[in-house]
Amino acid sequence: MFEATLDFAKAQDQQDELRDFRARFYFPQHEGRDVYYFCGNSLGLQPRGVAEALMREVEHWRRYGVEGHFEGEMPWFHYHKFLQEQSAAIVGAQPDEVVVMNTLTTNLHLMMVSFYRPSGKRYKVLMEAGAFPSDQYAVESQVRWHGYQPDDAIVEVAPRPGEETLRTEDIVEAIERHGDELALVLFGGVNYYTGQFFDLEAITAAAHRVGAHAGFDLAHAAGNVLLRLHDWNVDFAVWCSYKYLNSGPGGPSGVFVHERWADRPDLPRFAGWWGHDESVRFLMQKGFRPMRGAAGWQLSNAQVFAMAPHKVSLDIFVEAGMERLRAKSVRLTGYLEWLIHRLNEEQDRFRIITPAEPQARGCQLSITTGHMGRKLYEYLIANGVVCDWREPNVVRVAPVPLYNSFEDVWHLARLLGAFSS
Ligand SMILES: *Cc1c(COP(=O)(O)O)cnc(C)c1O
Repeated sequence: MFEATLDFAKAQDQQDELRDFRARFYFPQHEGRDVYYFCGNSLGLQPRGVAEALMREVEHWRRYGVEGHFEGEMPWFHYHKFLQEQSAAIVGAQPDEVVVMNTLTTNLHLMMVSFYRPSGKRYKVLMEAGAFPSDQYAVESQVRWHGYQPDDAIVEVAPRPGEETLRTEDIVEAIERHGDELALVLFGGVNYYTGQFFDLEAITAAAHRVGAHAGFDLAHAAGNVLLRLHDWNVDFAVWCSYKYLNSGPGGPSGVFVHERWADRPDLPRFAGWWGHDESVRFLMQKGFRPMRGAAGWQLSNAQVFAMAPHKVSLDIFVEAGMERLRAKSVRLTGYLEWLIHRLNEEQDRFRIITPAEPQARGCQLSITTGHMGRKLYEYLIANGVVCDWREPNVVRVAPVPLYNSFEDVWHLARLLGAFSS
């Protein structure tokens, strides 16, 4: 199915129907050529058109001043809505279930205000061991804020001894075991360290069976894997847009709240004027009345200068289509994995801790190499590869289907093969 030659990689690129999207991104340069960029899981590349989109808003402000809220093709009053349908398509939601606002950790807190409602015996949060630190701190501080101790109120599910990733059956078993103590099951979509893509549908179903809410941090999943948040019955999800979604540093976050919570104004929340019924927002009256759906969690008016680049990238995603992107991604990452296995036949030194089944991972592979991880990372950087290093011992590489090529992957494997530890 695969071959290890550069000619084969180039032929794959020729046949790739998404190959032209690469030219729509700016690549940093290394010794006069594009770097081999495998860091889209951390910060996506800049799409062409971002500067123009930003300048349009700067110009809009210059021309209209405050009237910019209501003038022009994309009046700021409605700006978040220009990102809504594309975001919904990416995470498998109905448009009303999604809103773009704030930043990721902020939104995680806002969602926990509504969906982590400990009472009586039911006060625990179940999450994956080794979750991204921001999520750990957010949960720790939430349980303390409700008067509980993290050691008691946070239940972590860890891999079995000798294993690197979690088995769905173990996650489900843990949910069932803690049953009516659980107020919330909060998982990553794709774990940032191992690259494991969890079975969100099974986790959600298990959480609901025991009467807990199910929420997900999709920072590493949105724009990476196929998601069907609505059909999976997920209660809420949050994600950032600067990783796979290429919106630039500090880009805004997306929020999903399932339709079945759309008409529940009684659901406790921290409110602000932008979540208030927009038809009467400017009457400036007392008595918060939330907008229907996810929009009812907004606090503030749209961060237009952060959303303009995000819209550019979202439009590219819609054009490429998540299904096509995912199909290419499975093959592209599969090629890298195949090439690494082949290198290991000569000398067994690269261990991939990411699951081997395509449905249990996104595009990222996490590689360890004995105690030489840090050295391998430095060697790759010196040779024009952009990837990253995560403590304690992993090099993460993410071939992104929008702008990475089979040729990029081939060069990465060539460099791995030439690494001498
Ligand atoms: C990247 C990432 C974050 C970052 O949070 P910000 O609030 O955007 O700084 C949080 N959680 C996870 C799982 C991440 O991967």
